[in-house]
Amino acid sequence: MTVPRRLTLENLAQLLEHRGLITPQQSSEITTKGKAQESRLFASLQSGAARRGQHGVDSITPMEVIASFNLEIKGSAGKYLTEDAITEALAAAVSMPYLKIDPLKLSLDVVTAHIPRPFALKNQIVAVGETDGVITVAVADPFNAAIVNELAEARRLDIRRVLSSKGDILKILREFYGFRASVVAAESESSAAVDLGNLEQLFKLKGQQEVESSDKHVVSAVDFLLQYAFDQRASDIHIEPKREKSLIRFRLDGVMHNIHNIPKQLHAPIISRIKLMARMDLAEKRRPQDGRIKANFKSKDIELRVSTVPVAFGEKVVIRIFDPDILLQDLDSMGFYPRELALYNSFIRRPNGIILVTGPTGSGKTTTLYSTLRSLSSPEVNIVTVEDPIEMVMEEFNQIGVQQAIGVGFDTILRNILRQDPDVIMIGEIRDRETAENAVQAALTGHLVLSTLHTNDSVSSIVRLLDLGVPSFLISATLVGIIAQRLVRKICPHCRQERELTHDERDYLQLGRKPRMVWEGEGCKECRGTGYKGRTGIFEVLEMTDRFKARITASADLADLMVLAREDGLVSLRQAAIRKMLEGATTYAEVVAMTG
Ligand SMILES: [Zn+2]
Repeated sequence: MTVPRRLTLENLAQLLEHRGLITPQQSSEITTKGKAQESRLFASLQSGAARRGQHGVDSITPMEVIASFNLEIKGSAGKYLTEDAITEALAAAVSMPYLKIDPLKLSLDVVTAHIPRPFALKNQIVAVGETDGVITVAVADPFNAAIVNELAEARRLDIRRVLSSKGDILKILREFYGFRASVVAAESESSAAVDLGNLEQLFKLKGQQEVESSDKHVVSAVDFLLQYAFDQRASDIHIEPKREKSLIRFRLDGVMHNIHNIPKQLHAPIISRIKLMARMDLAEKRRPQDGRIKANFKSKDIELRVSTVPVAFGEKVVIRIFDPDILLQDLDSMGFYPRELALYNSFIRRPNGIILVTGPTGSGKTTTLYSTLRSLSSPEVNIVTVEDPIEMVMEEFNQIGVQQAIGVGFDTILRNILRQDPDVIMIGEIRDRETAENAVQAALTGHLVLSTLHTNDSVSSIVRLLDLGVPSFLISATLVGIIAQRLVRKICPHCRQERELTHDERDYLQLGRKPRMVWEGEGCKECRGTGYKGRTGIFEVLEMTDRFKARITASADLADLMVLAREDGLVSLRQAAIRKMLEGATTYAEVVAMTG
């Protein structure tokens, strides 16, 4: 087949057929129904844009039209012919490199320095890289070389073209130029009119209302940043002042990534904007503060918890993002195996007693607790939580935040909470003897109590309670069960590869002599080259059997209790993690990192 010179619906359909992605029937269907489909698509995009108060689209590409047919790729078992797949096929046909744009790998400077925004938007091109003076430019139309030549000549640039989908290109143009425009405008405006050193002074003089509206560039820079973090499903945003610049980092699936460097003089105004949104004290910079922001993203309410700490070069801000889709899950989609899930469900259906969730910070305890409370929540049940601080505000629960500053601690609240007639009480964390005693008291008076402890495994929690001074007979009388948990990264399904465990690896996990196959992600565009996508929970669920309870004494020995728990059928975190690895859900490296 000869390569076309121009992109039309017909020749793109032919090309896809020729490359074996669609059948001849599908190809002719595209050709006959394509025009009507294009008009429909155009109309719906226009009205969608109008609804959001945005400019409409200028044109629809043949890639978008064909992608909108939602065709299954021939012989692929469930893979669809997306805009990306079509673009990739087209790139191969015209012998151009294909690039799935990863926004996290782009530099703000490269994207925005070489191509003016209107030109980039009009021609759907974006600069994505710079090596040894050669600029890599992603284009959506492979046949429009003239545009890039024009740009190269006008700006005296050495340009290499790669093909990317229009959707990706436009997304980058919106996010990066938007952020850059805001930052640049804030920079120039503030250095000209307002001395940034005095910006705080200005905040104080003008009052909060006026600053919010007057400093619109800072406002939109922060908005873009939040939007971008939601899009990437980041769990945390860190804004860190360094000596010469300010560094923005995101945590994605538990791992930190550098995102942007912003000029140092903008650090303070951006932090101030965030503090203002979180209703913090703007003038207070020497003491840590906490606050929260309610944001709406794709019509989903997202809660942000903001904390500031003074560090060597200024104030550092960490914004934790509470995505309800992550924090509130169905208990059966969290990673439990059936036996453990059935046990846990039997715990939480009890009318009273204490259930403990243990694990280090970041092991998903909050998700487990919130998801559990939500599954228990109904009009007939009064759920009260005592948290320090409240993680995510949920209307269905009555949440009480600890306020140490005014002397309202866990113990004060817990002493009074029983008068609020609760059925289920969630205590954020048992840290001291008083809290432990209050939890026991609540359980003894007929309440179901859920709480967390900072221990590594389930059995250690019993020793920890004894250490806190809870008498052993009260532990036996009130404790229903304990779960210990961790999160491990899941292997990216798009690039997973099988391999055999080495001899040493088998030894390390004590898996015996038999060869074992495991999986690993090679790294692909879907997982940003990390080989992982999303996370899953690993659970160890300890049931308080009568036999086990009888052995909890003041002098109980951890090792003895462990043996007993195993005999009762306890599957340890390590065993559960190894099972996830052998099933291909996670990697050897994750299991080692978790158990190491
Ligand atoms: Zn992958």
